[in-house]
Amino acid sequence: MITNFHTHTTRCRHAWGSDEDYVKEAIQNGYKILGFADHACWPYVGKTVHENNYPKEIKTAADFQKYVQWTYQKRESRMRMSPSDFPDYVRSVKHLREKYRHWIEIRLGLEAEYDPAYMDWMLDLCVRYDVDYLILGHHYVMGEENGTYTGLLDKEGLKEYVRTAIEGLETGMYACFAHPELFMRSALLSYDEDIEQAFRTLAQASARLNIPVEYNCSGMICNQASGKERYPHHRFWEIAKEEGCRAVIGMDCHMPEYLERKYYEQAREYLESLNIEIVEDIGKTDFKAIQAMKEQTEKQTDSVSEQRPAKDHRFLTRRNRQAKNTKDSKSFKRRKKSIGH
Ligand SMILES: [Zn+2]
Ligand SMILES: [Zn+2]
Repeated sequence: MITNFHTHTTRCRHAWGSDEDYVKEAIQNGYKILGFADHACWPYVGKTVHENNYPKEIKTAADFQKYVQWTYQKRESRMRMSPSDFPDYVRSVKHLREKYRHWIEIRLGLEAEYDPAYMDWMLDLCVRYDVDYLILGHHYVMGEENGTYTGLLDKEGLKEYVRTAIEGLETGMYACFAHPELFMRSALLSYDEDIEQAFRTLAQASARLNIPVEYNCSGMICNQASGKERYPHHRFWEIAKEEGCRAVIGMDCHMPEYLERKYYEQAREYLESLNIEIVEDIGKTDFKAIQAMKEQTEKQTDSVSEQRPAKDHRFLTRRNRQAKNTKDSKSFKRRKKSIGH
């Protein structure tokens, strides 16, 4: 069964084609499940301004360049949808799910970083909008608002990437680890023993938590076009096999053509040559159960002792709340409200 759980839309500001174009392309290429996982919104209040002003009709590269200029002026992220885009994203995906239900199964997901300051907010969003799954795309260490872009990491940053990505996987909120070796995009890093160690630590965590790692086809296409190996990186995949990881093939398509079957087949051939188990369906995550468990853990932690610092990093409940409260609780509430139901 051919499936893809990593599909973007124009709402992220760097993709092309209508939502429906992706669905049609997927059907034509024989996909049985298509999961939309556009870059997640976060309720940022600081550095990155988010407004719902993305022109829906960007048809040419010149249009896009104009838009890029505009986002620089406005200091708006070109990396993700804004919270005000989110309801339309949900509406569109659910509409397509219904319209094409006889041809393909469509799922609603998000590609999200792990940002401890806003994980409660994200969990609440997933529960309220019936999101099927999240994939961890750790593009920023500690979030885009104040963190570092993974494509610009140095060795110190790499350590933080590894630490925070694993902390994210441990929340239980992510069904798959997208492009785990994304940091190979950084010009400040090239393969050496530290990278080897990072690959191994990440692979071990994914195997321990039974979260499949994604073989990223968009990265594969870039590697082929540039002749440089960034990600996917062959050493990561050899280590992933050694450590007993399972793999997901993710098209990471930012334009419908990236769903072309030949790319999927190339990835499958490579993974089969390594004899890694391929996961065809990452399933749906029960975010309500995670929320209930989290509340339970929170209560227990509170009742044990108010003095003792929270040591359970799986949910980071108290620390999250503190971080959020010190950040700007009023703005957080205001943003939360503006998303609506
Ligand atoms: Zn993207
Ligand atoms: Zn990504």
